[in-house]
Amino acid sequence: MGDGEALPAGVELYRGNHPARFWRLLVESEPPAALWEAAAHEATVELPPAARRGDLDHLLWATLGEGQFGPDHWHLSQPRRLYYLLKPLLVRGLRVRLRRLHAARARRRFPLDWPVEDRYRRFLWEVVGGVMRRLGATELPFLFFWPEGTRFALVLTHDVEDEAGQRFAGRVADLEEKLGFRSSFNFVGERYRLDRGLIDDLLRRGFEIGVHGLRHDGHEYDSWAVFESTARRVNLTLAELGATGYRAPMTHRHPAWMQSLEVEYDTSFFDSDPFEPVPGGTMSLWPFQIGRFWELPYTLPQDSTLVDLLGERTPRLWLEKVDYVSRHCGMALLNSHPDYLRHARYWSVYEAFLGEMRAREGYWHALPREVARWWRRRAEGGHAAALAGGREARLHRPAEGRVEVAPPAGSGPPAPFSGDGERGPGEAAGSGGAGRPILPR
Ligand SMILES: [Zn+2]
Repeated sequence: MGDGEALPAGVELYRGNHPARFWRLLVESEPPAALWEAAAHEATVELPPAARRGDLDHLLWATLGEGQFGPDHWHLSQPRRLYYLLKPLLVRGLRVRLRRLHAARARRRFPLDWPVEDRYRRFLWEVVGGVMRRLGATELPFLFFWPEGTRFALVLTHDVEDEAGQRFAGRVADLEEKLGFRSSFNFVGERYRLDRGLIDDLLRRGFEIGVHGLRHDGHEYDSWAVFESTARRVNLTLAELGATGYRAPMTHRHPAWMQSLEVEYDTSFFDSDPFEPVPGGTMSLWPFQIGRFWELPYTLPQDSTLVDLLGERTPRLWLEKVDYVSRHCGMALLNSHPDYLRHARYWSVYEAFLGEMRAREGYWHALPREVARWWRRRAEGGHAAALAGGREARLHRPAEGRVEVAPPAGSGPPAPFSGDGERGPGEAAGSGGAGRPILPR
């Protein structure tokens, strides 16, 4: 970006994600902005070539804002438009074959890594490493990413595509409840008649409800005019359901347009996904801000990608990604569909995944709105003690080699995570301290 060049549209939406706000260093005086800028400039070598541009504002826009994919990124290509126009007419088997044909090509042409895209993570680590070097620090405390000394977060979400999925949602909830999990179910506002009995039941049992667009017909993001009128009705649905979260149908998405949604958080973006109608990725393993809302990118491949596209019969890929997320203290967020989970191949993979996660420890299992609120408070709050559940962790910068994160010590008696009292009825606070998953009861 040359001097005097106009700022790309949407840059301002990502300013809240300055690395200083990501790291939340617990130091007497915050390092000056120029120091962060210099460290960031140096760290750009970690990023994909198309994202290495300008100052921190630009870097955040190019990565989190997907600016690296060019000015037409949010527009669907003509062949894709045609495919989504015809999709409802195609039998499922043919749809799957077409997607598989396309998948190999999509991956070859995709500029990000998948399923693990590590470069934004490395960038953030290098930035703070550069700041430490300039401060002459080999160790610095920071406000850890997750409450109560848990190492990473696990968030389960579902999009309820159609009536069949709605009819099956209760069974999915039963399985999760049996294994000690809770999730959010995103319903399409005006595609099928919403089952209020089911929704009330899910809420009572501690699940969350979100909105998955209005019609799911592939046209909600056709133009600003269409989206604006759609968003108004989506907002009504959100208010009616008392929902605060949104996921765009088919992950058609547009960060600037989506500012008219009255939501606390969104889950339409992802860290890396070559297989979506608008492929791309924010490269982030953590929640981040897009203007008025918090984004919780999904970071595990979608169920249809895993089972239909890749032909997987086990949760191996999900679990490997969870291992990677855990190593770097990120967020594992999964989107699966009751409409697909009705089929035995899907069900067995999902059941096996939950069974495996049930046996693992030391992570925070939370609803998306809890995670969004935690990150908002973490970004705004003062020191660790001022934030309910806040823990101090340490950054180590060895003389040789890269910065390492030392999560909070997992010792001591478990303290209940009381949150901020914003929970709705039926949504109990998770309990249990370090070393145990915090499972909503
Ligand atoms: Zn959908």
